[in-house]
Amino acid sequence: MDCLFCKIARKEIQAKIVYEDTLVVAFEDVNPQAPVHILIIPHKHIATSLELTADDAALTGHMIAVANKIAQDKAIAQSGFRMVMNCNRDAGQSVFHIHLHLLGGRPMSWPPG
Ligand code: 5GP
Ligand code: ZN
Repeated sequence: MDCLFCKIARKEIQAKIVYEDTLVVAFEDVNPQAPVHILIIPHKHIATSLELTADDAALTGHMIAVANKIAQDKAIAQSGFRMVMNCNRDAGQSVFHIHLHLLGGRPMSWPPG
């Protein structure tokens, strides 16, 4: 399948991987929007969050647990961080393989733009 993040998960395209297990891969965003900007993706191709079902509950819970672990490892857990999953056009989703953004290391405004 011609999917950028599937290729990163299969190591066909290089990325700075910070964590990997049987369910997920986490790597640095190529265009970071904060001092820490990591993407957590499932190995399994899922185009948008709309395709997630109850069968994926363990996977999505694990994605959040991995984001928490990376936030601890990067020492941004106590200062604070943001998790974002964009879905479709109005949210600005540009890669159609779900990814959880982990952003931190600076104060962030709310509401997001
Ligand atoms: P989205 O806008 O879909 O929520 O986020 C896609 C993210 O993937 C963007 O933050 C973008 O910088 C990142 N990205 C796009 N292409 C690549 C790539 O080839 N490598 C890495 N590491 N990140 C990418
Ligand atoms: Zn994919």
